[in-house]
Amino acid sequence: MSELHALFGGTFDPIHFGHLRPVEALAQQTGLQKVTLLPNNVPPHRPQPEASATQRVAMLRCAIAGLPLFDIDTRELERDTPSWTVTTLENLRAERGAQQPLGFIIGQDSLLNLPKWHRWQDLLSLCHLLVCQRPGYPTRMSSPEMQRWLDQHLAHDVKQLHLQPAGHIWLAETPLYDISATEIRRRRHHNQSCDALLPAAVIDYIDRAGLYRD
Ligand code: ATP
Repeated sequence: MSELHALFGGTFDPIHFGHLRPVEALAQQTGLQKVTLLPNNVPPHRPQPEASATQRVAMLRCAIAGLPLFDIDTRELERDTPSWTVTTLENLRAERGAQQPLGFIIGQDSLLNLPKWHRWQDLLSLCHLLVCQRPGYPTRMSSPEMQRWLDQHLAHDVKQLHLQPAGHIWLAETPLYDISATEIRRRRHHNQSCDALLPAAVIDYIDRAGLYRD
């Protein structure tokens, strides 16, 4: 049986401690050895990231230097078209085979928003959902049907994530970081310090690239 491998998708404009720290705690808790960061292509009709795709990847590289838990997969940026998470997971599943346990990491806000995701009902046939807590978001789903769906798929033993290739939801007990990329960009635009919010190496990169300045 192959080891559980998790993917963590995001815009990462920029990556911050609210991404890194909960995922490190999740990994410790679940015995997860590898987390692949999956920077996404933002669809043209949505507000575009301030940093370019190249800059977002460069910031990921700065953030994970010396952290063997993480690597980066830029496949979603290499396409011209925005990619659905479900499509990326189908491709990964085809590459890795039916038996590989795969996890997809999301924050609590993304879990609540899941019914809006393209073909969200198919996600659990492709991966486990590993959910990090995020302050300021309800812990219950917004409708009784969604709560039932969640309850039906909850993993109660971490072994289920390693022994089965997909199909479970793990609500991790992760430390709360009240940080968002939006707030970091806002602070930078107002010349406010972001020291405790993201790794120093990422701040250095942002300074050098002149990002998030008017
Ligand atoms: P923005 O403020 O630009 O919307 P963000 O800070 O929410 O960005 P994203 O790159 O959109 O970051 O998030 C990627 C993933 O990380 C999502 O699944 C989101 O739920 C999760 N996430 C982001 N910030 C946190 C946080 N502070 N705690 C827990 N999870 C988080």
